[in-house]
Parts: sequence; structure tokens; C-alpha cells
Amino acid sequence: MKVFNTLTRSKEEFVPITPGKAGIYVCGPTVYDFIHIGNARPMIVFDTLRRYLEYKGYEVNYVSNFTDVDDKIIKRANEEGEDPSVISERFIAECKKDMEALNVRPATTHPQATKEIPDMIEMIKTLIENGHAYEKNGTVYFRTRSFENYGKLSHKNIDDLEAGHRDEAHQLKVSGEDEKEDGLDFVLWKPKKEGEPFWPSPWGDGRPGWHLECSVMSKKYIGGTIDIHAGGEDLIFPHHENEIAQSEAANGTEFARYWMHNGFLRIANDNDEFEKMSKSLGNFKTVREICGKYDPQVVRFFMLSAQYRSPLNFSPKLIEASKNSLERILTAAEKLRDVMAKGNVAENAETDAKAVEELNSFVKRFEEAMDDDLNTADAISVIFEMVKYSNTVADSVSSDVADKYYDMLRILTDVLGIIIEKKDDVLDADIEKLIAERQEARKAKDFARADAIRDELLGMGIELKDTREGVKWKRV
Ligand code: AMP
Ligand code: ZN
Repeated sequence: MKVFNTLTRSKEEFVPITPGKAGIYVCGPTVYDFIHIGNARPMIVFDTLRRYLEYKGYEVNYVSNFTDVDDKIIKRANEEGEDPSVISERFIAECKKDMEALNVRPATTHPQATKEIPDMIEMIKTLIENGHAYEKNGTVYFRTRSFENYGKLSHKNIDDLEAGHRDEAHQLKVSGEDEKEDGLDFVLWKPKKEGEPFWPSPWGDGRPGWHLECSVMSKKYIGGTIDIHAGGEDLIFPHHENEIAQSEAANGTEFARYWMHNGFLRIANDNDEFEKMSKSLGNFKTVREICGKYDPQVVRFFMLSAQYRSPLNFSPKLIEASKNSLERILTAAEKLRDVMAKGNVAENAETDAKAVEELNSFVKRFEEAMDDDLNTADAISVIFEMVKYSNTVADSVSSDVADKYYDMLRILTDVLGIIIEKKDDVLDADIEKLIAERQEARKAKDFARADAIRDELLGMGIELKDTREGVKWKRV
């Protein structure tokens, strides 16, 4: 598979550190409110990367953090008269609900900054010891110029950056950072202020800087060198540039081999120009709001309708188009289910053989699109061709071939996180049959079998309740 590496600005063959394994770190949201659909883009895109690598046989260690200590969280906590941890825990829970709705699988680990403070202190100590950081009145700064390769990710020249910082004296005074040795230096540890959460450290009570969190958590949960580091393109500078400086200066090893950045989700302003969706511009729509209006599957499908590096414009019209496109796939899946249920035997071996050959070619082309820097737009086009073909041959092929098509369609759409099975695929009659079988088993005192049937039903999303009036069931 080739991925576009921001570091080299080119598409490169993905070669993992350990064959068959991939360690991926994705910068997660700051949890002070519901996430908006712009925040959902990296979640969906990189969840799809994870699914595709797993489809290709990789064992993926997927780590995505929650930033749960931050000025915005503290501000909201003060406004609501709550402890900041109450706010962050509330919005972590809400974010997880949104992720589930969008079929974004939980990460292998979702670390939280506030739970990793001792390791952050350790990394700062190392950086001070090796001369890459210094303390001034309870604040610890990273000595940016001490890191030779600063700017390598964002392709910025350090002297240009310095020039951009010259007029900042006043601003620095306001933020209490006026004791920096150099305008380019950034904060690793900041001293506590009244009403803010804090942790003890060798430099006094305080809290870590944002960039440091990701350096520490990726190291702890993946290792000193990670395969793929990802996030939105707004994080390239300074966040990811600073992560590289801290990690490489502390660990002495390459921090991340591939850097993948998604483009922005945009929305039209009053002049009909598309702009980045963001909290600060106030032009955002929450995932909760959009998923109340549209099927979350449609939202996910819409997100993947463009290659992840391209900007993606949000509009009700485009969502509507995604809805119709997804409908086409779901209808084709239904048709295949019908054919499978008929149990047609092969009538025309040639038609069957041709259909299987076509199927293999669709799969190959789907993989080619995904191998080309996760081109989900092209991969979806291949799926369209596949369903179009399957619609035309479904009535003339055997049930076996229909079954092959259905299976493959299920597997490929699952890579995209789209579910084609009907939720109510399990018919009431089948449920009743299993319940009756369970009653028989109980009568025969075969409780193991009875329990197994209960579990089987639960796996299908059916919960049983034994009542005085008999067994009742409901979909869960
Ligand atoms: P934040 O909570 O702002 O740090 O954002 C969490 C993640 O969402 C980061 O990876 C951001 O780059 C990403 N993100 C924020 N806004 C957008 C947007 N409009 N389009 C795409 N990604 C975004
Ligand atoms: Zn990060």
C-alpha cells in the first residue's frame, strides 16, 4: 500500500517496522463539547485505514487520545461551576456515543492526558538533562533551536519562523511566557493558576503542555518509533512539528515513519464560499445534530466519498446524494439476499464462471484504489460498478454465486465501515423457532443448550426475558 507521507511530500510504499504489524497514533479531540462533523473526518478516515490494514492481514495497534486538560475545558468547567474532570468525562462519553453511531471502532487504547502525568514529567526531566529544555519560574520550555531538524514536517525554515515571532513581546507578556530564551521555544510544563487543575512536579504544581501529551502517550502505547502518525492538516504546525522535536530529542530515535493528514471538511459561508468547519468560526454542525437528521451510515459514506486529503464540502444536497448512492448499494444487497434465499442451482456454468471472474476483478480494483493512498472515492466507484453488474446478473446466476457476491460486498463495505446486513435480518419466525427450541432444551434439562441458544439470540441482538406469561423478547 502507498501512503502520502507529509514528511517527504510523496507517496511511499508502507513498510511497517515489524512485518505484519502496524502502530497508528491519531490525535484525538479536546473534550469540552460535542464533537462536530469536521472532527469526525479524521476519526472516520483513519478508522477506515485501520480496517483496510486489518483486511490486508495486519495486526493494528490503534491509539487515539482524548485531550482532557486544556484551557477550553477549564473555561467551560468554570462557567458551569463543575470540576474540569466532570466536563471532560461527560464529553468523552458523548464522543464515544458519536463514534459508535458512525461505526468508528474503539481504539485499542484511548489514553487520557490527565492519567499519564508521571510519564510526562519523566520526558521533561530527560529533555532538561540533555539540554533540550529549561525551566524559568515554574515554566519549562523546549529549546527549539537545539533540535536541528525543526521544521522538517511542515517544511518551514526556522529563521523564517523566528522572524514571524519578533513582534510577539507584548503577547508573550500577557500569556506569562516572556521569560523564554527564544520566541520559538514552546511550553512543556506550565505553572498552576488560580482555579485550574494541577499536578505536583519537580518544577512546582502545574500541568503539561498540549504537544507533550501525544509524544508521551504514543511512546507508552506504541513505542519510541511509531509506524503512522495521523490527524487533521491543521495539526502539522506547530503541534506535530513540536511532537517530533520533543520525542526525537528525548528518545534519540525517529518518532514516526509516516505522517498522514486529512484535509478539511468545509461548509459554505454567507457568500457561498466554502470555509473550514471550526468551533472558533461558529460554522459547525455537531455529529449529534447531523445524525439526528440523517442515517449515520449516510454521514460516514459521505465522508468517504472524497479521498481523505482533498477538501470535502458539506451541504445538505451532497448528503442527499450520498443517501441515494448508499441506497443503491443496499438495494443491490437486498436483491442478492433474495437470490440466495431462492436456492437456484447453476443453470449456466458459463454465466457463473464469468460472474466469478468479474467479481475477482472488482476486488482487485477495489484494493488498487485503497492501496493508492486510501482512495476511498475510487474504491466506492468500484463498488458501484460491482453492484451494477450484480444487479444485471443476479437473476441468471446460481445462489452460490449470489452468495459469493453478497459476501464480498459485505467484506468490502465493512472495510469502509458500512453495514449492508439488515438489522432486522433475523425474522420473527426464526426467533420464535429458537425460543421454542430453548424451551424444549429446558424441559429436557439440557441447560447448556438452553443457555447457548440464549447467547446465540443475544448475538443477533435479541434479548430474552422469562416471565410468568412465558418468554418475552426484544431487540436490543
Ligand atoms: P481539535 O479538537 O480541534 O484538536 O480537533 C480534533 C481533530 O479534528 C484534529 O485531528 C483536527 O485536525 C480535526 N479537525 C478539526 N476540524 C476539522 C475540519 N473542519 N475538517 C477536518 N478535520 C478537522
Ligand atoms: Zn497530538
